[in-house]
Amino acid sequence: MAKISINIQSGDIKKEEPIVGIDLGTTNSLVAIIDPKTGAARALKGKGNSVIVPSLLHFGPGGEIIVGQAAHAFLVDAPERTVYSVKRLMGKSYGDVKDHEHFFSYRVIDQDDEKLVKVRIGERFYSPIELSSFILKELKTRAENELGVPVKKAVITVPAYFNDSQRQATRDAGKLAGLEVLRILNEPTAASLAYGIGLDKNEIKHVAVYDLGGGTFDVSILRITQGIFEVLSTHGDTYLGGDDFDRAVYSHWQKQHQLNDLSKSETQLLRLSAEEAKIALGTQKIFEKSIELGGQILSLKLGLRELGKLIQPVLERTRNSCKQALKDSGLTLDELDEVVLVGGSTRTQAVKEAVKTYFPGIPVNDSLNPDEVVALGAAVEADILAGNRKDLLLLDVTPLSLGIETLGGLMDVIIPRNNKVPAQVAKSYSTSIDGQVNLKVSVYQGERELVKENRKLAEFVLKGIPSMPAGFPKILVKFTLNADGILKVEAMEERSGVKQDIEVKPQYGLTDQEVENMLLASITHADSDVKTRLLLEAKNEASQIIYITERFLEKNQGLLSDDELQQTALLVNDLKNSLESNDKDILLSLIDELNEYTRPFAERIMDIRIAQALKGKSLET
Ligand code: ADP
Ligand code: MG
Repeated sequence: MAKISINIQSGDIKKEEPIVGIDLGTTNSLVAIIDPKTGAARALKGKGNSVIVPSLLHFGPGGEIIVGQAAHAFLVDAPERTVYSVKRLMGKSYGDVKDHEHFFSYRVIDQDDEKLVKVRIGERFYSPIELSSFILKELKTRAENELGVPVKKAVITVPAYFNDSQRQATRDAGKLAGLEVLRILNEPTAASLAYGIGLDKNEIKHVAVYDLGGGTFDVSILRITQGIFEVLSTHGDTYLGGDDFDRAVYSHWQKQHQLNDLSKSETQLLRLSAEEAKIALGTQKIFEKSIELGGQILSLKLGLRELGKLIQPVLERTRNSCKQALKDSGLTLDELDEVVLVGGSTRTQAVKEAVKTYFPGIPVNDSLNPDEVVALGAAVEADILAGNRKDLLLLDVTPLSLGIETLGGLMDVIIPRNNKVPAQVAKSYSTSIDGQVNLKVSVYQGERELVKENRKLAEFVLKGIPSMPAGFPKILVKFTLNADGILKVEAMEERSGVKQDIEVKPQYGLTDQEVENMLLASITHADSDVKTRLLLEAKNEASQIIYITERFLEKNQGLLSDDELQQTALLVNDLKNSLESNDKDILLSLIDELNEYTRPFAERIMDIRIAQALKGKSLET
């Protein structure tokens, strides 16, 4: 068994550089660190008294950018220059978001030359990556002020359901803000870490993480074994959250006091009062407030029970997601060890009570501030990456794709980048030549379409495949990536059971920078990569057709006319000559021509052979 060393983890990080944990939220963002004195995670306050930075940006007419709480008032005064919920746009194309365009009061646009959306503010266009970087910069500055040293490294969290491009966009936003993003961490993983779940190497746990934020909801079921966080399932609604509670209270008052034709600022005032009531009812049984609307003084009232009733329909929708997530996870209720509450909206009493009934009998963790818990967990992960908790290795996704080389030097991905770890994936392949008895399996890591641009990890030869026509053997290549990041590759010819395997072990490393460079290169070269792939695929197809046709001619000479033989040979020759032309279009058109010309032969020969068989003659093979 051969062993080749690779690193799927990031390298060592010097201790003295702080690494912060960042929750880049749709509504609110936070930055946290592990306090060196207490060893506990702590969210950092800015000049004000709050650890929360609202994910809001206002662009002043003079070019100034206001981030966070100070931008709040501009939601009413200058909605078209004030950006909220930018997280919803990360890694998205215009097509992805246009159904929700009404949700945004600022302008979301797409340009012909750009697939990802942009936001237009006055005459300037901003990508969601840039916009998020402004929020990250604010958090970075906050941390630097508090710690008194430059902050250059961070762990940033994303929802478990974020796809590749959304994760990549988040990484890029960090880079733009001057942060090296050491890890993109799943939010439910972070929340569990904040509660210390998964820090004991010997425990096996199943956790449901219920996250109800300002405008998004998701529930994830995790399996945690030996520090490995595996997302078994995730379900939710990206347009459901605390804002819906505010709207429910708002509508209730509107009906109660028959408030029609409110001005924009009156609407906003009533909405803010609704949020105020919701929050106040966390600590008191009844909310009362007088406001001036439409020239008269109104007395607004809301009771705790009333609030519970008003938000019931919203809660009902989260119940369905919980059911679905549990079902998808393949676990039964009694296999769950804990429920973790995340998101500011889980502070509402009715939510806490409801979640208890969704997972009856399962202990609910709500002792930490639910709006801080993701950032706190990110800080714990940062601490682990800093090497301060030596015995721990957290690995929940693989940062680069793993695959094998196929015909023409193409990379065929078996375990994609960001796939959860541990993972096991198998794919079927076959031979390309008649009677082929050996098959070389070359293992690569990277995002480029051609293996020569990726990093070679290992190679072995599957020997002793029984001689069969091309395409006949069924060779299963299985990749198993275990919890330590060790990759095992197995190849087996299924008809004969011939088998070979190899272990690829992480020993020396790719630094995070190298990983980054490989990812960047895959973006920069994406276009030319695709062209090369298409050309290579055309060449492969041409070679196969030439091979098949020549064999066909050899075997069936007697059944074709001289004319047909000549014409076919001519077409094969043309195709052979064009193999070196590197022109995909010519190749494809010659392939088509040859196919068109020879198709009737196959049918005719089939008929002849059937007729021969019926006459009792033996079939040639
Ligand atoms: P996100 O993850 O979407 O960025 P958060 O987790 O910070 O958002 O949640 C924001 C939501 O939490 C808002 O709808 C806000 O009104 C709500 N919220 C904050 N504090 C409380 C509270 N004490 N009681 C009820 N809801 C609250
Ligand atoms: Mg959140």
